[in-house]
Amino acid sequence: LDPEALAGDSNAVMDFLAEYYRNVDKYPVRAANLEPGQLRELLPKAAPELGEPMEEVLDDVRRDILPGLTHWQSPRFFAYFPMNASAAGLAGEMLSVGLNVVPFVWAASPAAAELETVVVDWMAQLLGLPRRFMFSGGGGGVLQGSTCEAVVCTLAAARDRQLARLGHEAITRLVVYSSDQTHATFQKGARLVGIPPSNFHVIPTSAASGYGLTADAVRAAVDRDVALGLVPLYLCATVGTTGLGAVDAVREIGDVARRHGMWMHLDAAYAGSALVCPEFRDYLDGAELADSVSTNPHKWFLTNMDCCCLWVANPRALTSALSTDPEYLKDDVGIDECTGKPAAIDYKDWQISMTRRFRAIKLWVILRRYGAAGMRAHIRRHVAAAQWFEQAVAADGRFEVVVPRRFSLVCFRLAKRCVGDDDDAANGANRDLLAAVNASGKAFMTHFVVDGRFLLRLAVGGASTELLHVKEVGELLQGKADEVLQRYQY
Ligand code: PLP
Repeated sequence: LDPEALAGDSNAVMDFLAEYYRNVDKYPVRAANLEPGQLRELLPKAAPELGEPMEEVLDDVRRDILPGLTHWQSPRFFAYFPMNASAAGLAGEMLSVGLNVVPFVWAASPAAAELETVVVDWMAQLLGLPRRFMFSGGGGGVLQGSTCEAVVCTLAAARDRQLARLGHEAITRLVVYSSDQTHATFQKGARLVGIPPSNFHVIPTSAASGYGLTADAVRAAVDRDVALGLVPLYLCATVGTTGLGAVDAVREIGDVARRHGMWMHLDAAYAGSALVCPEFRDYLDGAELADSVSTNPHKWFLTNMDCCCLWVANPRALTSALSTDPEYLKDDVGIDECTGKPAAIDYKDWQISMTRRFRAIKLWVILRRYGAAGMRAHIRRHVAAAQWFEQAVAADGRFEVVVPRRFSLVCFRLAKRCVGDDDDAANGANRDLLAAVNASGKAFMTHFVVDGRFLLRLAVGGASTELLHVKEVGELLQGKADEVLQRYQY
């Protein structure tokens, strides 16, 4: 890497990004008019023979790429879940990719590996996780790229723990449980670790429990399976489900999991960030019954992609499933005389890939720059804005809030009574409302369907989203609702 080229190129990119962030509010939030194949037509048919100046590259980004992007960093992006970017996150990412070290075994970059152990303990402490998930409490954590990767690792650990007891043939009898609100990543993960698709059992939830998984429902499913000779392996509990932000009864289902020797994973991909605020800690009640916990700081913790924290109570269960010991990676760290464990950590044994990023420095920079107080203020600002929105839609007789808001996600719809008490008409009107809002370019939201009801999701959490933007989207929705309901007058 040529230091002079670095200074020139990175200054040009920084100027470009500063201009982008100054104007990001002015772009249509969702990419509007890009047809498949259109960008390919604009670009040369092959990579250039000779290198080109950075300015020309950035001109092309501005002209050809930006118009086709959906602007996730717009303050009026309310779709999916947020994907936070911050100045500290970008600075941390620059340090990570700039230093470009690979902490897969201790010798490969000792300070990078050790910083990761410090940062995951800091995070566990900040979010109020039980001590058993910290290195200082006998557990430990790792930074991965996504929840999906983390979940595959925990499923492999759970599978190997059971198969060591029952023999390899038992794999056809192992069952993984999720709720009908659990993220699809668990189903993918179960498939990847060899669980027969018919042994991925989806347990229904209902409005009565706010679409959270209950112990009775888990017990009924597990008892049925045990009677059939199946072996309960793994249960996923979620704090903050993707569709509705629902929360499972962690302690109660954790008790069932314990009784049956199941591995319980606690998925807090989105809502985990909120746990930095003590007022959300009740949702962690029973977390000590879990074997593993994960959250994605890249969603709502001011962390640029990518970063998933995975903690396990028993690191050896994870490393037994994932470790390899090739000659070319052997180092001589030795064994700790007190614990009998390797004296240092080889993070290659905590994840799928061997080569890995120096994510710890990014999260460390972020935590140092914002501090716990800064993070709490960030979360509370969004929760207060979501609270305002929830009250505003509830006060407008045309709308209904579908499930009580727990964090910063509001799920709502035009009420059926406004369109002649007809289910299909209500779904049609809500689809039309969402389409009208998104087509305006002034906001981007996504939907969910529960019990056959199509609803709109307002996920507040963009790093630059303020109450002002939420109020604006409220006005936009009211105007579009007028137009849509006129069409549905009967
Ligand atoms: N779990 C929950 C609750 C999520 O909301 C998401 C993504 O939104 C995931 C898991 C999947 O995360 P990833 O894309 O990091 O695999």
